[in-house]
Amino acid sequence: MADRPDMPATPDLPRAPRGGAAGTAPAPATPEQGGPASGARRRFLNGIAGAAGSACLMGLGVGLYSRQARALPALALRPPGALAEADFLAACVRCGLCVRDCPYDTLKLAPLGDAAGVGAAGTPYFSARQVPCEMCEDIPCVKACPTGALDHGLTDINQARMGLAALVDHESCLNFLGLRCDVCYRVCPVIDQAITLEKMHNPRSDRHAMLLPTVHSDHCTGCGKCEKSCVLPEAAIKVFPLALAKGKLPEHYRKGWEEKEKAGGSLIGDQLQLPARGVDTPPASPIGGAGLPSAPSHPVVPSAPPGLGGER
Ligand code: SF4
Ligand code: SF4
Ligand code: SF4
Repeated sequence: MADRPDMPATPDLPRAPRGGAAGTAPAPATPEQGGPASGARRRFLNGIAGAAGSACLMGLGVGLYSRQARALPALALRPPGALAEADFLAACVRCGLCVRDCPYDTLKLAPLGDAAGVGAAGTPYFSARQVPCEMCEDIPCVKACPTGALDHGLTDINQARMGLAALVDHESCLNFLGLRCDVCYRVCPVIDQAITLEKMHNPRSDRHAMLLPTVHSDHCTGCGKCEKSCVLPEAAIKVFPLALAKGKLPEHYRKGWEEKEKAGGSLIGDQLQLPARGVDTPPASPIGGAGLPSAPSHPVVPSAPPGLGGER
């Protein structure tokens, strides 16, 4: 087929502009030569690359953030009645109604990032050292929650388990140094159940008692008032989420004393009564029976050696 006049003579030559006559005007620069089409295309491609890069970075950031949120243990305390952390995160819609209805400014919404140690922005938490939970009897935060992330079955605030207090620094606690402070003990709303003072010998003075603040997990609500009130610049008693505060026994362990109580008695039956032998049995009289000889009727006193008044 013959070449058309508006077509390049050879495939290597540039195409003439549409409608123009071949050879009458300088051929425009090809994209490879940096013409206007090249600029637009470069800008277009740059735009796509930029958008793709941003999306990748955002995806990477979100991925890292969510991985971090999953990996980090939550340090901040949840409101009373909060479900177990994974269920709570799934159920909480970050509406903030619990925060709004807290009368003591205890609850906050977690900011972006992990500054609060919560790992999930927008979820409610509180910091014991700043503003502890006042354990309101009517538990308004739970009532406000529309999703059940805060369990509406919690009607007695003493049953709340927001966390667990632990005396973390024996070396700084004034009571453990042998002084009397007791502030954490005295501010506890569940005094003498959630926290007691256990008397211990003070080996340093050897004559005074030390009263060790001791927390009992079956009554501590995790309200945080003890941590808030500790007189030290850094609290020696702190409240942690239960998952961080508690250890776990192996599944197969059984506590003998609990099993005994459940069974209503000892699991090993009565102790065997072994017969007493020998020394505890009174000796039989030599008259009419075998046994040890009876004591002499007068005491045997060793005599002094001869020459010192003794008998020969
Ligand atoms: S009221 Fe419930 S759903 Fe709303 S932020 Fe509080 S815990 Fe989450
Ligand atoms: S967190 Fe402290 S003050 Fe609150 S119940 Fe537990 S021991 Fe008592
Ligand atoms: S308030 Fe602090 S220093 Fe005082 S007894 Fe309690 S933990 Fe120890």
